[in-house]
Amino acid sequence: MAKLAVITGVSRGLGASLANLLLESGIDVIGISRSENRRLPTTAKENNQFYRHFACDVSDIPQLEETARLIEEEIKVKDAEQEIDTIFILNNAGVVHPIDQSQYLKSKELIDHVMINSIAPMVLTNYFLKKQKELEIPLVIANVSSGAADNPIFGWSAYCSTKASLNMYTRTVALEQEELKTGNRIIAFSPGIMDTDMQTEIRSSTKDQFAEIEKFKDYKVNNSLRQTDLVAGVLIDIITDEDVRNGEIYYINDYI
Ligand code: NAP
Repeated sequence: MAKLAVITGVSRGLGASLANLLLESGIDVIGISRSENRRLPTTAKENNQFYRHFACDVSDIPQLEETARLIEEEIKVKDAEQEIDTIFILNNAGVVHPIDQSQYLKSKELIDHVMINSIAPMVLTNYFLKKQKELEIPLVIANVSSGAADNPIFGWSAYCSTKASLNMYTRTVALEQEELKTGNRIIAFSPGIMDTDMQTEIRSSTKDQFAEIEKFKDYKVNNSLRQTDLVAGVLIDIITDEDVRNGEIYYINDYI
């Protein structure tokens, strides 16, 4: 029996760590992002695992649906070779941009933001939920959320809103899957502050755009940002646990 993970945002940050650690722990990975991660094919080879990357801009929904279709074909081939007993869908790709007071946010930037952070995870999840009857492989879905889903933050109206929507989507789909007795499980995961490009972008804001800028600069100076490998390890422990709780919003701070 084999397990396979579909991960968005594998080119860097948390997604790259998730892909790398899953390959090292014997789980095949299909990655989605606009740019490639050069290290992952090597990790796959070294660990005798399967890795395939699909270049896709998840804000382009027709492109994402076509990518999902190609991934489904890939999964069918893999399943015929060696039976797959679990598919993990890790909706990790996300953006914090645009950061500014809400009256200054441009509509086009808002649309892209909502597409990437809210719509793309829904589209990918919906696609595989629909195909699950045909594939007959249970799904474990994790949506990477944020503490910003629970707390309003000056300058982050888009980000707080999309992460809150992701949490409610998770809880609602979990309720449906429970009532339908599909066996599929879906969770959200709040990874805490991590040392990634997203934090670099946050620190490049002005105080007018983002009132808490100094606090976030201090996080970097004081080494308070977690490394993504550590965070990825916690999420992998959660999703690979037999008792993963459907609809739960998991918080990294409850684990480390
Ligand atoms: P990151 O380093 O900025 O990486 C973002 C990833 O998302 C990249 O692989 C990027 O790939 C992908 N992505 C962005 N836009 C995309 C698009 N249009 N199409 C396809 N892929 C796209 O971010 P991170 O810090 O690892 O964040 C990962 C997740 O954790 C996000 O959901 C974020 O909201 C959440 N989070 C992060 C922090 C933090 O402190 N860093 C805190 C709380 C929550 P390409 O650019 O190659 O497409």
